[in-house]
Amino acid sequence: MGASLGVDVVPMKVCTYDCIYCQLGPTQTLTTERVAFYPVDEILADVEKWLRSRPAPDVITFAGSGEPTLFSQMGELIREVKGLTRIPLALLTNGSLFHDPDVRRESSCADIVLPSLDAGDEETFQLVNRPAPGLTLDEVTRGLVEFRREYAGEIRLEVMVLDGITDIPDRVAQIARLARRIQPDRIDLNTPVRPTFDERAVPVPWERLAELAELFSPVAEVVAETGTPGDESAVSRSPQGEEILALLFRRPCTADDIAAGLGLHPVAVMKELALLRRRGQVHRVVRGARVFWHARAEGKGELQEDLR
Ligand code: SF4
Repeated sequence: MGASLGVDVVPMKVCTYDCIYCQLGPTQTLTTERVAFYPVDEILADVEKWLRSRPAPDVITFAGSGEPTLFSQMGELIREVKGLTRIPLALLTNGSLFHDPDVRRESSCADIVLPSLDAGDEETFQLVNRPAPGLTLDEVTRGLVEFRREYAGEIRLEVMVLDGITDIPDRVAQIARLARRIQPDRIDLNTPVRPTFDERAVPVPWERLAELAELFSPVAEVVAETGTPGDESAVSRSPQGEEILALLFRRPCTADDIAAGLGLHPVAVMKELALLRRRGQVHRVVRGARVFWHARAEGKGELQEDLR
């Protein structure tokens, strides 16, 4: 969608799912309860300040360090941001709460809605998305079908495909059947190119995604982020990664410590930690309810194990 200004409306990491492919790490608060996490006027002031001081983005995306529709003031926020700018507003959501008429009404204020659908049967849904208790694939699908009926804007359905789990033609065909019921304007196939915390979330090669895309109607677009899926060299080590590693060589830290100490966004920190962990440069140690990150000494990575 071009240059996007992301507006994060939930704390790290509050979500209705605990997807095995999530780049943000394990869900800390698994819930379906909607909460007014932040005052709308504070978020608005931040957005306004940003828009005044930088070149205009192509789109403003409501997303977050979890599921944005858990923010109970979402409708008010979208309406207020619309009053500030004519830049299109997008909502990046897992779609799990669309069975709630309030969520559908609030979401319909956005110009583009991008829900996800990663499974075509209940067993795979529970395996991949690990939803909050009570959420079922049938309920999620019915919510999305209802939303399509009520919403005239653009819906882009994102399907995350995982090697050995959902790249099986029968399973993809089941997802495609549900997608036909939802009738999105477009279907995007993705795969977890960037490192994740769960080793079961393995990316699918681009060519395979292109074959699976044909099973959808309309044919899905392959939108894997960068380079060849699974190619670690496609993701270069960023300056933030270097800073985090340097800090962890001095002392073990929690992700929150790192974010506060280096002035980085918690989402960026979690992504960098996942990448460093995949490369064997950091490991986690769980102490009580806290997770500490340690740098591995060069060449000794294979000798240390995470303590869980
Ligand atoms: S829905 Fe998104 S934020 Fe929530 S666990 Fe899944 S990938 Fe992570």
